[in-house]
Amino acid sequence: MERARIKRLGNRCIIAFAAIGLFYSCKPEPKEVISEEIAIVEPEETIEFGFNLDDYIVKRDTIQKGDSFGEILQRNSISFSHIFQIAEKTKDTFDIRKLQVGKPYTLLCTKGDSLQKPNCFIYQPNKEEYVVINFQDSIHAYTSRKPIKYVEKEVAGVITSNISEALSDQGVSVRLAYKLADEIYPWTIDFRRLQKGDAFKVIYTDKYIDDSIYAGIAEVKAAYFEHNKEPFYAFEFETDSVTGVSDYFNEEAKNLRRAFLQAPVQFSRISSRYNLKRRIAYYGNKLRPHRGTDFAAAIGTPILATANGTVIESTRRGGNGKFVKIRHNATYETQYLHMKAQKVKKGQFVKQGDVIGWIGMTGNTGGPHVCYRFWKNGKEVDPFKQKLPEAEPISDSLKVKYLEFIKPLKVQLDNIQYKIPEIEEKLEEVFDNTNAITQVNN
Ligand SMILES: [Zn+2]
Repeated sequence: MERARIKRLGNRCIIAFAAIGLFYSCKPEPKEVISEEIAIVEPEETIEFGFNLDDYIVKRDTIQKGDSFGEILQRNSISFSHIFQIAEKTKDTFDIRKLQVGKPYTLLCTKGDSLQKPNCFIYQPNKEEYVVINFQDSIHAYTSRKPIKYVEKEVAGVITSNISEALSDQGVSVRLAYKLADEIYPWTIDFRRLQKGDAFKVIYTDKYIDDSIYAGIAEVKAAYFEHNKEPFYAFEFETDSVTGVSDYFNEEAKNLRRAFLQAPVQFSRISSRYNLKRRIAYYGNKLRPHRGTDFAAAIGTPILATANGTVIESTRRGGNGKFVKIRHNATYETQYLHMKAQKVKKGQFVKQGDVIGWIGMTGNTGGPHVCYRFWKNGKEVDPFKQKLPEAEPISDSLKVKYLEFIKPLKVQLDNIQYKIPEIEEKLEEVFDNTNAITQVNN
């Protein structure tokens, strides 16, 4: 059920950005499936790890520093020779030396035994898996998984405040905001520049272990984001059934990923945009065109390659300071200036999102930032004004299948209703703060 997914590196910071998001449950009956089920299907027997725990005295603990399998059993009145036998017979299934401090274990002891001798040791290396070492009659061991349940949910909201705050207000994990910003929309929507009135709807699945233990958001199946009155649909679709690789596409089957990331630095702000008509008071209002986009961040912040390519320069020169230049294909090159240090060498192949250096102040600069230069056919252009190529278009053979697949999801998305936000306090203040402060940097 879990799908491998292309690691998508995003470049957004939602928490830092102040936009107000009120999320509303969209259906008249909110999907409180979990609690309802627990209430209705109150089990008369406590079944866990495949055992009816009512039949046993159950001792639960976590592995302490200095604990070993032998010591735990010895403390519980199991003889040394028996421990040795158990360890020998189960070593092919579980290496008892692999017990980790802090992980939970459970001992099941037969009721009525005055010594409360355990006859089963259950170890949980993670939330989902457990290892049973059973020595009740014959000695045997096996690894098993707790039942996983996926619950589909919907959430919708209109941006008037902070997106992550609004999510937690609705009991929705803030991870959902990150998923939208970093995995689904980093190429199409700049989450640092969300607008009042931007709105969204999401269909996602939550994961639960043992029916009740929340284990995070499993996947976002479909999303709709309205940004600057423009609609952005996103549907997850498996493009390779063998590897399980999936990607997000829009309603026209266009890949949402782009060949280039929007920014070479995560959690940064744009301190100066590409501007050929820039005039600087400090220089007597002379025309000083800015052929790059400056992303300000703290010294030492990683700088990422915005696309796959080959490093063609990694050097230090004049006002540029330490910089890296990458050739992506016959058309595009990108360049990253003023680094504290480079992490890549000339000739090296880099992938989108790879760290190529760190923010610094080398060369001609007034503050720590990276000046990002975007070259198209040998000319420096504004990457934000370019129609950048999509990462990997969907194959023609899959396109028909995809369009069929998204039909019901799109109807479902379109039917999710927003409520009109009633409170609009703090709006002016918040949105004033988002106006970019233009700083004069190289
Ligand atoms: Zn610059």
